[in-house]
Amino acid sequence: MREFHPPRRILLGPGPSDADPRVLTALSAQLIGHLDPEFLKVMDDIQTSLRSVFQTQNRLTIPISGTGSAGMEAAFVNLIEPGDTVAVCVNGVFGERMADIVTRCGGVLLRIDAEWGQSFDPGAIRKALKVLKTVPAKILAVVHAETSTGVLTPLSMIREVLSDFPDTLLLVDCVTSLGGHAVGIDAHRVDFAYSGTQKCLSCPPGLSPITVSPRAVEALRKRKEKVRSWYLDLSMVEKYWGDDRTYHHTAPISMNYALREALRLIEEEGLEKRWDRHRRNHLAFVAGIEAMGLEMLVKSENRLWSLNTVRIPEGVSDAKVRASLLQEFGIEIGGGLGPLKGKIWRVGLMGYSSHRNNVLLFLNALEQILCREGFRLKSGGAVDSAEKAYGACC
Ligand SMILES: *Cc1c(COP(=O)(O)O)cnc(C)c1O
Repeated sequence: MREFHPPRRILLGPGPSDADPRVLTALSAQLIGHLDPEFLKVMDDIQTSLRSVFQTQNRLTIPISGTGSAGMEAAFVNLIEPGDTVAVCVNGVFGERMADIVTRCGGVLLRIDAEWGQSFDPGAIRKALKVLKTVPAKILAVVHAETSTGVLTPLSMIREVLSDFPDTLLLVDCVTSLGGHAVGIDAHRVDFAYSGTQKCLSCPPGLSPITVSPRAVEALRKRKEKVRSWYLDLSMVEKYWGDDRTYHHTAPISMNYALREALRLIEEEGLEKRWDRHRRNHLAFVAGIEAMGLEMLVKSENRLWSLNTVRIPEGVSDAKVRASLLQEFGIEIGGGLGPLKGKIWRVGLMGYSSHRNNVLLFLNALEQILCREGFRLKSGGAVDSAEKAYGACC
């Protein structure tokens, strides 16, 4: 085999996003042992900083070894005992994945569906939960940022619905929101949240930060049977990350170096400034898209800042446009999934990738390609409109 040199890309898809160069440097440092006193300090730093990014005081806040889906599986396999009823809000691929995992864990699934591309009606969630007469649902699970559609589900709305169901635990997927949007874990009394390193945290894929409320920890302690996953059993994993520091499995050392540096970058930038950066780049992106005469899939009040979904105009080839973006401009974006296949483009502006240069480059590239494809652009000037959204005037 020859050496592998990855081509130069700009990752504006649904993930992974571009890693910050400082994170890549941290990743390449020499290994130390997973029980080395210096590594234990790295672990402490990660836990402290993760709490602030999750906006929580939860003691049990750690990165799970594995990608975002490992965090998802950890959440359900630890909280569910066979026969427990689990309500899952499904309006995209990741809600579907949650529902699949629930039944694999022996849970009784209560599905609450909304159309892909739309958020949930609180009345519909309340009505679905009320169907359970004697024992309330043990868990209500929602995807905060549905990466397959670009929809944000407000956690304040979900918390409000749960005021009628005080015993139900709230489980939230924050994979595409953590580091890009406020998550307010404590403010919304989220009991279990998980994320991933490769979306808005500007890190390669490989770790899944989770945070668990004291109430959920109590539920874990009260389990009647062992967790049906050895690797993800938090009662053992937490001993390594807690005071005992007993070996469970070898921590992915380099990925923890990387996550620590990614969190340090967030501290330097400031959480609020970082959310605002994601918001401003999203708004400029939308201004450019609409100036071209294209439409966003999601209503403005439900749009994610980290993942933008654009309707593919009639007569334009999805595959051709994405291939040109990649081959000519080195830009990766995502296509639609499930019922949205061939209907939308998914453009991620996450973490290090959420940058003005990327927004302007992408708009310009798309304009060029669409023009060549024969799509009659409204007035051109996408870049101009985006610049105006940034407050520039010429
Ligand atoms: C990407 C993603 C996941 C899964 O993460 P992987 O790193 O691909 O395992 C889960 N939920 C959401 C909302 C995601 O965007």
